[in-house]
Order: sequence, then structure tokens, then C-alpha cells
Amino acid sequence: MAGERVLLIDDDEDIRDLIADYILSPKGFDVSVAKDGAEGLQKALHEDPDLIIVDLMMPVVSGLDLIRTLTKEGRDTPCILITAYGSERLAVETFRAGVRDYIIKPFKDVELLEAVHRVLPDAGQGPASPVYPRHTSQQLETRLRELSTLIGIGKSVTSQLDLETVLQRVLEAGVALTGADEASLLLLDPATNELYIRAAKNLDEELVSTLRLKVRDSLAGQVIHTGEPLLIGSDGWQKIKTSYLVKSLLYVPLKVKERVIGVLGVDNKVNTTPFTERDQQMLSALADYTAIAIENAQLFAETEAEWRMLEAVLSGTEDLVIVVDPAGDISLINKAAQEVFQVGDDIVGTPLRSAIDRPDLIELFEARADGETNRRAEIALGDDRVFNAHVTSIDDVGWVAVMQDITHLKELDRIKSEFVSVVSHDLRSPLTAILGYVELLSRSGPINEKQAEFIQRLQRSVQNITILISDLLDLGRIEAGFDQEMGSYHLAALVRDAVDGLRPTAELRHQTLDLRIAPSLPPNWGNELRLRQVIGNLVGNAIKFTPEGGTVLVEAHRDEDQVVMRVQDTGIGIHPSEQPYIFDKFFRSDTVANTHQGTGLGLSIVKSVIERHGGRIWVESELGKGSTFTMVLPIIAPPSSEASVAAPAL
Ligand code: ADP
Repeated sequence: MAGERVLLIDDDEDIRDLIADYILSPKGFDVSVAKDGAEGLQKALHEDPDLIIVDLMMPVVSGLDLIRTLTKEGRDTPCILITAYGSERLAVETFRAGVRDYIIKPFKDVELLEAVHRVLPDAGQGPASPVYPRHTSQQLETRLRELSTLIGIGKSVTSQLDLETVLQRVLEAGVALTGADEASLLLLDPATNELYIRAAKNLDEELVSTLRLKVRDSLAGQVIHTGEPLLIGSDGWQKIKTSYLVKSLLYVPLKVKERVIGVLGVDNKVNTTPFTERDQQMLSALADYTAIAIENAQLFAETEAEWRMLEAVLSGTEDLVIVVDPAGDISLINKAAQEVFQVGDDIVGTPLRSAIDRPDLIELFEARADGETNRRAEIALGDDRVFNAHVTSIDDVGWVAVMQDITHLKELDRIKSEFVSVVSHDLRSPLTAILGYVELLSRSGPINEKQAEFIQRLQRSVQNITILISDLLDLGRIEAGFDQEMGSYHLAALVRDAVDGLRPTAELRHQTLDLRIAPSLPPNWGNELRLRQVIGNLVGNAIKFTPEGGTVLVEAHRDEDQVVMRVQDTGIGIHPSEQPYIFDKFFRSDTVANTHQGTGLGLSIVKSVIERHGGRIWVESELGKGSTFTMVLPIIAPPSSEASVAAPAL
């Protein structure tokens, strides 16, 4: 038997076409279709079909509602339910409602036909498998073309930064895909709340340049307002604006981060074919691409503006700036740096090593310890200019060096050191005389108790001045590089001596003085006298600035090709704001100025000596908890003839 009447109810046009035109009709079924549950119900009641195939999920009247209503009305038309999921619960429910069979999406044509045969065993004796008519392959071809156009636009959006080209392509594609007469892209001007044409295809040029549409009373404005597409068919003329009428139009919103910024539209002035849902879907996809392109272009413009500003700042500054990427290639060098190093900007993109012949600068970038993010060094040029270079690591960028000309500061420092050294030297003679005569005083006749006390005070003051002068002279000598008595020394022995020498002082203060020296410390090369002074100074400070009963720990060990010494105390600590200055000459913390004796020169001497030995020193401290001074010295091999005691400066 053939010619059974099947009522197909589905709100998806594609599925309706597929089942009706390509699966059931070729098999000889007489198919009637309904686009939703309500229409389906009407047709089921009036047409009394042999079979109903109905989609479960439909708005308002669902497939199950429809079947239940039919049952209530006393109809027992066999039904097949199309559903997107399968479950026992659903099966039981649908069969209870009178459904004979159900199929689950996605299904093949044979599955549907099998279900139909289960319900109507004699039905559909047409060809075994559906024959797709010629227009199916044409349809497929069209879909493929649409798809490849969309993919093409997608690619050009992601690869093109030129917004004009992208917009033009989008509009061309809009016209081609929907078969529209013309297309336009309207953007919202937030200042006036009006829409203007940003790009257009096939539109009158004058209209393009003059059109301004109020959001309040225009069709495009309606889309801005609702954020929903607008599809108006060909029933009568539609007004875009006075004197500009179209037969049909399709507008979709242009959204950037959920904000509607404009409208992408196509319309027909001559063409009478109305736009379809499919056109709407494609135009929406194009609108998404357009939004991305506009956002990309905005980001690009912002980045470019920022870059121009940065470039202006960099070329205007007197400081030298060099940026090196993680691979060691120069990615930026400003004008000031180009002038100083006598290079052009053509060195950008080349390795720093080969581009600038400055080993100290190259070392600053390359000789970084693991995890080090900051480095500072002085770079002296041949023409007496000195730069203070600061290299910082920046994630994803590489290393940035900023160099300031400190020649004038260096000169000031030199003059100051020279002055101090001359003055302190010249003070020694009169001081010696004072001390000598004060001592003679007591021997040259009887003195009373009061006079004896005054003499004692005088002697103490002279001693203090003498220490200060010695410190100043030491510092002058060390800084000037006159202090070059080098030889082999054992750090372990120096540390032990210093600690032993200071143990009585610590004991007097009831402090615990701990010593931990690793057995593997190798002999080293340097100025033993000065290094003793360094250790004595650090341990002496630790004892001095730690209250009674506290603990001082001195520890030394080897770390690859260097030795590390740490002096840790549980003392008063140093305020973070003062920590950067404690190695400066004459710096004494406000908190110790009146309570602890000192000249403020000890740590400057320590730093100078350590730096002369190629080492480093730093402090970590917490106010009220204690301080840790860490000194790192490279292990230096003695020169080939160890007999030469006056080796060149380190
Ligand atoms: P002095 O000890 O003669 O004051 P230094 O140059 O040795 O001078 O030290 C400079 C300043 O650093 C000290 O005055 C003190 O404020 C601070 N300081 C040094 N060592 C310590 C320490 N172990 N604990 C707390 N403060 C310290």
C-alpha cells in the first residue's frame, strides 16, 4: 500500500524538509507538515492522518502535550516521537500517552523508515533508500559555499589589521550570502545617540555620508535597543528614513563584550525575495566577525598610541635605555644609548654581544645568578664618563637596562675622599701632641682627684677621635686602591680569631656567640688584614646592637666557586627605610645615635673591602627581631708566583 498520509510536526525547517522531501515523499507517502505544536494539533484534528511524526521539544505545545490532547479528544492516530535524548522515563511516559515508537536525533533515514514500518507495517513501498533530487546537491553546494565564505571572512578578520578591508569584505559577503541588494554597517555614536554609516555596499554615496538615524525612532535603533535581530518581510515598503524606502530588510546587532555597538544590515530595494532565518544566522555570524575586527582595530590603535608615547618618552630621556629579549637580541635602544655607544638603530634585532663592544655591559646582562631579577653596576667609558646601570628582568620582555650618567657624582665623591684623607692625616700630629702632653701632665707634679678625672676624659675623647681618623684614613686608602697587600688566607681562621677576640665582650653581655664553620672551606687569596677588619666589624656590630642575653651566630660555608659568611643576630634590627643607607659613610640609625658608640664608618669600610675582593654584601633585617649580614667572596686562585705579595688590585 502507498499514499499513506503522514503529518509531520517539527519546528525545525531543515528537519521538516529532510523528512518530508527526501525520506518520506520518495517512498510514496503523502506528507503534510506543520511548523509547531499548535498548527500540528489543528491539522491532526482536521486531516485525520494515518501517522503523526512529531518533535518532542517545541515551544508552547510540545509533542507530548499534542499526543495527550489527541488522546483526550478520542483520537488514536499512531504517533512516532522525535526526541533529542532517550531515557526509560521518557519511553514509559510517551507510550502511556499513546506513542507507538520514538526515534532519537540524530537519526539516519533508515532508522526513521524502520520506525514507520513498525507502526504501519504495509506502508511505504517506494525505493529502498531515499533518492536525493538534484536540487539537494545544489542546496548542499550552496551551503558549502556559504560556509567557505564565512571561514574566509573569519580568516581575514584574524589576519587583517586594516579595518577598512575587513569591513568591505564583510559587507560583500553579506550581500553575496543573502542575495540582498545592498548592505550597511551602522555604528552608534554614544555622544549623540545616533547611528551613522561606517561602511556600505551598493549604497548611494551621499546617503552614506549624510545618514544619521536616531536610536529612538528608527528600525536600526530598535535593534540597538533590544539587542535582537530584526527581519521584516516584503509586505509593503519599509522606511529606513524619509525618502529612503526598502522592500525587505534584515538587521542584526553588533555586540562587543555583550554591548551593542552597532547594526549590520542588508536590504532589498528591487529584489522581492524575502530574507530567511538562514540569512539571519549567516548575517549574525558576519556580525560576530565584524565585532572582533572592530575590537582588534581598537586594541591595535590603542597599543600603537601607547607605543608612540613610550617612544617619545624614551627618546626624550637623557638616560640610556637598552632592552634585550630573552634570546639575547636587542629589541630596543634609545637615541641617548645609540649616541654613547656610537651605534645606529639598525642594531635592533641583532645579538647584544656582537652589536656593542662593551664587555662590562654584556656581562651585566648575561652574568645573572638564577632567580636574580635586578642587577646594578657601574660602567666606565674611556672618556672618563661613568654610568650607573640598573638591569631589571621583565616577564615576556627580557631585560631592561637603564643607565644614568653619574660622572659628576663620582667626581664629588673623589674630591670628598681626597679632602677627608688629607684632613684626617693632618689631624693626627696635633692629636699625638695632645695625648702626649696630657700624659705628661700627671707626671709633672701632684694632681687632685678632680684633675685626674678630667685627664681621663680628655684621653678617652682623644682616643675616640683617633679611631675616627683611623677609620677615615682606612677608607680613603681602600677606596683609592692603595691597599693592595695580597696573600693567601684561611677564612675559617680569620673568623675563629675574630670570634675568639670578641667572646669576652659577648660574655659580659650574657650573649650566646655561636660559630659554625663548614669543614670544606678552601684557602683563598686576598688582603688578610682588611678581611679581619671586615669580620671583626660585622661580629662587633652584631654584639653591639644585640641586647643582653641575645644570640649571635657566625656561619661560613662554600657555595660552588665562592665562600659565604653570615653574621646573624637577635638584636634591635634595622628599619626598612634605613636599610639602603647603612653602608653609606657616616650613616648611623636614628635609634642608635644616642645609645651606642660609633663613627658610622664601619660598614662603609666593610663594603669597600669586600667589593675590592670582587665580593658582595647585603643585609636582611626586621626591626626588633634581628639582622643578618651576608657576605659572598669569590674563591680566587693565587697568581702563578705566590711570592709576589704586592699583586695588582682586584
Ligand atoms: P657604627 O657601628 O659605627 O655606628 P657602622 O657603619 O658599623 O657604624 O653601622 C652603621 C649603622 O648601621 C649603625 O649605626 C646601625 O644603625 C646599623 N647597624 C649596623 N649593624 C647593625 C646590626 N647588627 N644590628 C642593627 N643595626 C646595625
